[in-house]
Amino acid sequence: MGGTRHNLRVDGARLWSTIVETAAFGATPAGGVNRLTLSPEDGQVRDWFRAACEAAGLEVGVDELGTQFALRPGRDMTRAPIACGSHLDTQPTGGRFDGILGTLAGLEVMRSLNDAGIETEIPLLVVNWTNEEGSRYAPAMMASAAYVGEFTVEDILSRQDAAGISVAQALESIGNVATEPLGARTIGAFVELHIEQGPILEAEGKTIGVVAGGQGIAWFDGAVTGFESHAGTTPMTRRRDAFNGLAEVALAVERIALAHGPSAVATMGEAVIAAPSRNVIPGRVQFTLDVRDPESATLDAVETELRAALAEIAGRRRLTIDLDRIWRKEPVPFDAAIVGLVESGAEALGLSHRRMVSGAGHDACNLAGKVPTAMIFVPCRDGISHNEAESATQADCTAGADVLLQTLLTLANAPATTA
Ligand SMILES: [Zn+2]
Repeated sequence: MGGTRHNLRVDGARLWSTIVETAAFGATPAGGVNRLTLSPEDGQVRDWFRAACEAAGLEVGVDELGTQFALRPGRDMTRAPIACGSHLDTQPTGGRFDGILGTLAGLEVMRSLNDAGIETEIPLLVVNWTNEEGSRYAPAMMASAAYVGEFTVEDILSRQDAAGISVAQALESIGNVATEPLGARTIGAFVELHIEQGPILEAEGKTIGVVAGGQGIAWFDGAVTGFESHAGTTPMTRRRDAFNGLAEVALAVERIALAHGPSAVATMGEAVIAAPSRNVIPGRVQFTLDVRDPESATLDAVETELRAALAEIAGRRRLTIDLDRIWRKEPVPFDAAIVGLVESGAEALGLSHRRMVSGAGHDACNLAGKVPTAMIFVPCRDGISHNEAESATQADCTAGADVLLQTLLTLANAPATTA
């Protein structure tokens, strides 16, 4: 791989107009988008995407979970397509760019290649993955996880939303017709363009994030157990206050994450006092903990140090502190060669760039276990995402799409290797 550079650029104004046009499907008064997966609004944007792809000469297939695959033929149809894409569903108070940029930039790359009359050696593919957000149906990134074999079709189709509507019913309600089985579509490589959803690129004045991988995640459920007693009659020195114990736990979590910074992050997103009452000393508090880092060894170290800190707090305060690890996802390194192509593509285009790790989960993180994968980030204003105020500039979106174009062109013209 490598070598060939192309003068071709995407049409940034055309890309922007598609972002504006599709933002009408589920538009909110505050300028955001409410397009829950497989909702009527999601059905509308899917119909729009299919029509736009077909107008660009792409052949659109749909798998059993509703994921759309738009194929642009290459000279050698025996080779697995080079894919790009992301998702078109949003959070209930989502923005216009999360997922949407990567999907519509894929369409724009195909349109630009058509305009320039360029045929690639290997076919190209634009993918719209179903339910990346995980807001209506759990888990998030459902369809890409099932694509790589982590879930069966039957399992996913039977999942229900809060109203009891299954994925199968929701697919039917938007008139989805599968044309291929889950996992039948071969993908030779996958490149996902996405807004950063964090503040780093903007703060450093960089245009392109060259994403080297997704960070590891460990989820814990915990509980601090003390003893309920009367708020007025129990002397301070005799208390076994579970909530005060939790306060020390929270500070220990913060201290340990900071000690492994700046990469490590830890969040206690839920804390619930059992049977809360104004004049009862809390006897039990349950909490959740989310720890993330790009290195497995750091996840291990944070957990080890945290367990030691909890034992010390529990002993000193005469409490019981339980901590169960309920889920762990190892860090996902992206394909070194494709990451290098993204970097050299940004360099060749004269765009400022830096290597980084994805703080959020993405469909690309699921794909990475099965096919060579990389991601491209562009800045978003104030690092805000999953919010109606989510914003990115036309120039940055265009730059990201240009890097995507360069990367796809190089991959799709790579000579066949003999094994
Ligand atoms: Zn996304």
